[in-house]
Amino acid sequence: MRIIHRTDPTVEMLDWQQYLVSALRTLEDLLNYVDIDPTMPAAAQLLVDQASRDFPLLVPKPFADLIEKGNINDPLLRQVLPSGEETLAVSGYVKDPLAEKHSNITKGIIHKYQGRVLLLVTGGCAVNCRYCFRRHFDYSDNKIKQREWQEALQYVRDRPDIKEVILSGGDPLMLNDESLFALISTIEAIPHVSRLRIHTRLPVVIPQRLTTLLTNRLNSSRLHCSMVLHINHANELSPMHKSPLAELRSGGTWLLNQSVLLAGINDDVETLVELSEALFINGISPYYLHQLDAVAGAHHFQVDPALAQNLYLGLREQLPGYLVPLLVKEIANTPYKTPLV
Ligand SMILES: *Cc1c(COP(=O)(O)O)cnc(C)c1O
Ligand code: SF4
Repeated sequence: MRIIHRTDPTVEMLDWQQYLVSALRTLEDLLNYVDIDPTMPAAAQLLVDQASRDFPLLVPKPFADLIEKGNINDPLLRQVLPSGEETLAVSGYVKDPLAEKHSNITKGIIHKYQGRVLLLVTGGCAVNCRYCFRRHFDYSDNKIKQREWQEALQYVRDRPDIKEVILSGGDPLMLNDESLFALISTIEAIPHVSRLRIHTRLPVVIPQRLTTLLTNRLNSSRLHCSMVLHINHANELSPMHKSPLAELRSGGTWLLNQSVLLAGINDDVETLVELSEALFINGISPYYLHQLDAVAGAHHFQVDPALAQNLYLGLREQLPGYLVPLLVKEIANTPYKTPLV
């Protein structure tokens, strides 16, 4: 007897969802994909395996396609490649460097900054960045389901001083368009909220995520929309990004970028100048350059604060003011990001 399957779920998937499914998930697959021999000494392998168990490797192919073949030091590869150094305990590097637990008042909401709240929409990401400050965050406690949004947003409804809702995560664009639009509609119905911001890395690592539907939804909202992308290196932008970003921007959504200063990846003036210039060509304004948070497992990406300040001064020398991001550090229990210069 033949078993006839009702429908093949992949048939209905959008391009970006297929890229999520086909993402690289093992060290071997990733290194083979970028033409690097994955064999290493047993002791090193053990540590790397542990690092990937603590925080799984996850790299979508459109991002992997921008990695230079055969280059183990490629700045994109280094952002996603698990390393044994992640397993070292280093004093001062902790699991919750921002003490976000204290500001996590209602399930799914972080209200630390005046006038705006972060809504933790989903725990997942399309890519796992090794330096991520939320790598230990307990999303299982905070993942909010659609029916819980009303509850989380009641917090916003009850506070007329909140003017901006920031969708964060994980990555809020992991939601499908239907769920995302339902959430946006709920926020639009709160009269005192006038701004909607989406913090996301998804359109960077899978540019197909900026569907026409999503772009139109944001551009037709009564809310003033902005999207804060997360790009650390000019190589992350390709010709694939140009037209979806241009459509979003030309319809009125403001495009900004935040980067993290990362040792061995973007900690020199030339790389940061190239990044700002590439952002501008794509219609994105540099917003923040973050000094890395002291999260356990990421110490090897840390840039010395004195070097960070020199880099910033170098940018000021070489770029117009509007292409210089603000160098900031997040200090636990401080209700704004602290400028470092
Ligand atoms: C970064 C951040 C914001 C947004 O800060 P802006 O300065 O408005 O970009 C809001 N809430 C929290 C908890 C943040 O970490
Ligand atoms: S939250 Fe952002 S930085 Fe962290 S893993 Fe997800 S995409 Fe990367």
